[in-house]
Amino acid sequence: MYKVDYHHHSKFSFDGKDFLEDICKKAIEIDLNEICFTEHFDVDPKDVSYGVLDYKAYHECIELCKQKYGNKLNIKRGLEIGEPHLKPYLETLKNEVEKMDLDFIIGSVHNINSVKLRLTMPSKTKSKIYEDYFNEILAMVKIADIDVIGHLDLMKRYAFADYGNYEFEDYKDIIEEILTIAIKRNIGLEINTSGLRNKVNEVYPKIEILNLYKNLGGKIITIGSDSHSTNDCFSYCKQGYDLLKACGFEKIYTFTKRCPIEHKI
Ligand SMILES: [Zn+2]
Ligand SMILES: [Zn+2]
Repeated sequence: MYKVDYHHHSKFSFDGKDFLEDICKKAIEIDLNEICFTEHFDVDPKDVSYGVLDYKAYHECIELCKQKYGNKLNIKRGLEIGEPHLKPYLETLKNEVEKMDLDFIIGSVHNINSVKLRLTMPSKTKSKIYEDYFNEILAMVKIADIDVIGHLDLMKRYAFADYGNYEFEDYKDIIEEILTIAIKRNIGLEINTSGLRNKVNEVYPKIEILNLYKNLGGKIITIGSDSHSTNDCFSYCKQGYDLLKACGFEKIYTFTKRCPIEHKI
């Protein structure tokens, strides 16, 4: 099994707790074959990550770690871009990304209309909460320049306490539209295991979405813990692999210079 963690944050992200080098050491300790750092990056001035990433330092740090640990661990440079589809910032984002030497880009929805998901819920019904979220993902997948959709169905993390989980059948049509467009545009899906670390106790996205993606012909899948500390590196990723196998996937993907590479599970 090719062991990877393709969603990891370090201190280069506003909410990352540990140094990138320490995370590499941990990854080697637990026998990972490859790790991809996916630091937060946002071009919306209202987002908490705006202006946080020191790309030059990030680039240099990765290069240094590659020199030191490259014989034991494949280390990749990625970003998790929040709302990479916002029209006013498309040009800025394109210019910024072009300057970077990236292996991988996760596209994520953390905000709707510049408001954090958690804060978009008051005054909405449960169905409106989930509907608005999936519509934002749909808008993203239509135009964003990304390699995978990050933690699809993250809304359940925030809605869970007050409204519970959602029923796949209630949103099947829009989810199918999202996945169909993603496949057409060569955008993959990540299985994000951080949901297994909180009350939702379920991966993002839920298994029905993984099955639908498979049935629609989707192939590109990455696995990530969305860890923000050395302790959570690869956490629950083994379960992620098992789940993918159970859904009939035979391969997982890594990326080099934004090109997908398949590996047998
Ligand atoms: Zn995220
Ligand atoms: Zn993340």
